[in-house]
Amino acid sequence: MDIINKFSAIHTTAKPGRDIRYIVIHYTAGVTSRAGSAINTAEYYRTTDREVSSDYTVDDTAAVCYNGDINNRYTWHCGGARYSTKGGTYYGKCTNANSIGVEICSTNSTGKMQAANDKSYSFTDAVINNAVELVRQLMKWHNIPAENVIRHYDVTGKPCPGIIGWNKESGSEAEWEKFKARLSETSGIPAKKMYYVQVGAFSEKANAEKYLAEVREDYPQAFIKVI
Ligand SMILES: [Zn+2]
Repeated sequence: MDIINKFSAIHTTAKPGRDIRYIVIHYTAGVTSRAGSAINTAEYYRTTDREVSSDYTVDDTAAVCYNGDINNRYTWHCGGARYSTKGGTYYGKCTNANSIGVEICSTNSTGKMQAANDKSYSFTDAVINNAVELVRQLMKWHNIPAENVIRHYDVTGKPCPGIIGWNKESGSEAEWEKFKARLSETSGIPAKKMYYVQVGAFSEKANAEKYLAEVREDYPQAFIKVI
């Protein structure tokens, strides 16, 4: 899957050297995830009057990165008041400032937007496969464990993703649990050869982190890999 850069700082906030601890999963509440949907969503963040944005958006064919300076700026995807639902267990812990937002393009069989958890909403297999691939990559880049991949629902209690099987309000969390299991799955996925560009190696974690902070000034995507 390709990651397409569609950078904009509009509807983002500067926070140099921010501490990224969580990845927050959303659905767009849109009606299609076909090719181009993720680019259209990024374009919407840039042009809408609504105070909304997200770091990445995934559709059936690609992921689009909106935030080009992810270590020093955050997007607006999981803020706001807490809903009175069974969700929200991470309210006050996970914030826009310490998380990365991933929007998954949804499909609606009526062709129109509907209320959250309407039975006409679904995710295609293709969009879920791409979301798994992107989130696994982000976990590696930003050293985020699978347990810190959560839903918008876990942050504010908003039914998001608002799709049956993805939050308790919908009556089942089975689809969310399947998605989570795939994030840490090692069997069944062919080992892909990766070529890393290395610029240093340290026996002390603190020294590696100090050097990483320097390198990130020029290369914001730099990350620590423990071998
Ligand atoms: Zn959301």
